[in-house]
Amino acid sequence: MQTNRREILTSLAGAALLGSAADRGRAQSSSAPRIRDISVIECQPAGARLSVVKITTDQDGLYGYGCATFTQRADLVKPAVEKYLKPLLLGRTTDRIEDIWQTCYDSSYWKNGPVLNNAISGIDQALWDIKGRQAGMPVYQLLGGKCREAARCFATVRGSDPKAVVDHARQFVEQGFRDVRVGGGPARTRGEAAANSQPLHDRPLFDRGEYFRRTLSLLEFCHHELGPDVQLATDVHERLEPRQAVEFCKAAENLNIFFIEDPLSPEDLAYFGQIRQQCATPIAMGELFNNPHEWQPLIQNRLIDYIRCHVSQVGGFTPARKIAILAETFGVRTAWHAPGDLSPVGHMANVTLDVISYNFGIQEWMPFNPHVLEIFHGAAEMKNAYLYVSEKPGWGIEIDEKAAAKFPFGAETGPRKNLNGGWDDLRLPDGTVIKQ
Ligand code: MG
Repeated sequence: MQTNRREILTSLAGAALLGSAADRGRAQSSSAPRIRDISVIECQPAGARLSVVKITTDQDGLYGYGCATFTQRADLVKPAVEKYLKPLLLGRTTDRIEDIWQTCYDSSYWKNGPVLNNAISGIDQALWDIKGRQAGMPVYQLLGGKCREAARCFATVRGSDPKAVVDHARQFVEQGFRDVRVGGGPARTRGEAAANSQPLHDRPLFDRGEYFRRTLSLLEFCHHELGPDVQLATDVHERLEPRQAVEFCKAAENLNIFFIEDPLSPEDLAYFGQIRQQCATPIAMGELFNNPHEWQPLIQNRLIDYIRCHVSQVGGFTPARKIAILAETFGVRTAWHAPGDLSPVGHMANVTLDVISYNFGIQEWMPFNPHVLEIFHGAAEMKNAYLYVSEKPGWGIEIDEKAAAKFPFGAETGPRKNLNGGWDDLRLPDGTVIKQ
């Protein structure tokens, strides 16, 4: 009895010692790899400035990559990772992803901003990559495996000349695409402005009435020319006034639309109910969301058809998977944001979610610039309008860091070479600045 009591006390003392170490999350199995280094690989092989977190462990050859790309404020992500998250995480084991995610999320007290969310995403995705490499499995297998073979994608055709848009869309249709997003790029120069909207400034111009008419007319023309087998979408990019957005969605209702994207801004979420009440046009929303309070009401009130968050903007793979599951409960499908300002690592996280989520809707796809593929080896493969997830362990992507170093963050590529990821301000004819 005495011995047993002594053993129990010894055991409790040991547990207390373990507890003091656990303040840095070290109470796990001694065989679990520990974080030895965290760095950010930055490169600009095409227009977008890509940031990818690399976590190196204390086990030989075991590391992982996570996308943390926020091209409009790219220089801020690296210090957020290396100055704040790295000291917090060095020495921890890599096997408690949820615990590390919550620790990072709460570590700044103030949270849900795009810089910090992207920094956390880089850590989170790198940990999933490590776990997959450890298991010798692609990440999708760690989550239960596929429920479809590949992710159906939509193609994008920019431009406002209807005939050129249809010609380009037909090229995608020949490649197997049945879903094409058209329009976009509505900013115009003074010389291109309609006679009745001559601007009072020399900045990129956006005339809401003109955009409304031209885009609707473009959708009508595309529907007429491409026929019922091709579904259409357009991205309003939150540039209309709320009332115009409601009217636009109603007007597009019978044009074989697979979604109208971002008809309203995150500041105008309350208007989504009006769109829902007045038409059956499918709605996609979410690429600007950073905060659960933004997507929760739209999903739980079934006010959108597609949740369209940018996975790194919401904090990475872990929270995105939770969003997908929440959306499934309410019949909302996924359409993760994936233009060029996302690394192939981030793309693979998207495609992984696509193949494991029953409520997958559609995936945005754009071909990578060949310079991007010089750096990132193993990107998701596109075949006949379907994206295929990697079958290699983790995300299945290796980064050639020497190749990345050949494309450092450089001169900005926007029309004014500003420091905004190439994005310029956009103004109404009278000079009022509006949302990008
Ligand atoms: Mg968009």
